[in-house]
Amino acid sequence: MVSLSDVKKAQQEIKDIIRQTPVLTSALLDAKSGNRIYLKSEHLQKTGSFKLRGAANAVKQAVKEGANFITAASSGNHGQAVAYIAAELGIPAVIVVPEDANRAKVEAIKAYNGDVIYCGTTSAERIPKAIQLAEENNGFYVPPYDHPDVIAGQGTVGLEILEQVPDVDIIVVPVGGGGLIAGILTAVKAVKPHVKVIAAEPELANDTYTSLNNNQITAIQGAATIADGLRTSQPGDLTFPILQEHLDGIVLVTEDEIKDAFQFMLERTKQLIEPSSAVAIAAILSGKIGVAGKNIAVVLSGGNVDLRQMKKFLPTSPDR
Ligand SMILES: *Cc1c(COP(=O)(O)O)cnc(C)c1O
Repeated sequence: MVSLSDVKKAQQEIKDIIRQTPVLTSALLDAKSGNRIYLKSEHLQKTGSFKLRGAANAVKQAVKEGANFITAASSGNHGQAVAYIAAELGIPAVIVVPEDANRAKVEAIKAYNGDVIYCGTTSAERIPKAIQLAEENNGFYVPPYDHPDVIAGQGTVGLEILEQVPDVDIIVVPVGGGGLIAGILTAVKAVKPHVKVIAAEPELANDTYTSLNNNQITAIQGAATIADGLRTSQPGDLTFPILQEHLDGIVLVTEDEIKDAFQFMLERTKQLIEPSSAVAIAAILSGKIGVAGKNIAVVLSGGNVDLRQMKKFLPTSPDR
C-alpha cells in the first residue's frame, strides 16, 4: 500500500521537475462561501495539471528499473504529463488517445515530443493497446491513477497544502479515478488526521459516490459530464480502499453548477481552470459543503481548456 513515507520520497524525487504551485485567495470567493478559501493552483503546474506529479514519480521509478520506453492511454492531462516527463528524461513515449480527443491537449502532447496514436473512444479500447505497446518494447505503461507511484506523486499536493496553509480545516478535491484524492488522503491523514478531506464529483459521473454508497467498486454507464478529466466509469482498485478508509465526505454537483463555477473563476478571479477543477469550486459555491468560518483549501487540479470549446462550459442563461 501507499504510505506517508512513499509520498515524502516522491516529493524528493520530483522536486526538480515540478513547480511548487502557489496558493491564491479571493475576497469575493470568501464572502460568497462564508469561509476562507485557499486555491491550490495546480492549473499553473507545468503541463497545466497536477498529473505531472504522479507521472514524474512513476516514470522515474520505471527508468531506474530499466524501462527505456513509456506509454500511456489518456484523453489529455495524463498523456501530456507522461509525454513531458519522458522528454525531460530523454526517453520516447507513445500516448494512445481517443479518436475524439480534445484538440488542445493532443497538440500539447505533440509539442512535448510524444507520439500520438488514436484508438477507439473508450478506455477499454485504449488501455490494452498502450499496455501491449509497452510489453512489446521493454517499456513501462503508466496508469493514470491506479498505481502506487502515481498515487504517491499526487499525494505531494497534500504535503504542499499542509505547508502553505498550516491552519487548513478542510481540503476539497475533484475525484475521477481517485489518484489525486487517495494521495492527498495518504499524506494528510498521516500528518494531520483532524483535517477533513472532501471529494467533489459531477452528478453525471458519480461512480465514486455510488461505489462508496454500495461499499464496493461499482461501474456506471456513460459519464457525459463536461468535466472530461472526471469521466471515469469506476474508481481504482488501489484508490478506492483508501477513500473508503479515510474520506470525510463526497459532494455531487450538477452540470449547471460546474458551468457557473467555471464562469465565476474566469470572470471574477481571472483564473482559467478546466471544468474538472470547476467541480471543486462548484461544491463550494453551491453551499453543499455546508460549513462556515473554516479554512478550506480547494485543489484547482488543471487548466487545460480548448478555447474553441469554451462556449460549452459557460452557462446558457445570461444573468446567472
Ligand atoms: C485527472 C484529473 C482529475 C482527477 O484525478 P483522479 O486522480 O483521476 O481522481 C481532476 N482534475 C483534472 C484536471 C485532471 O486532469
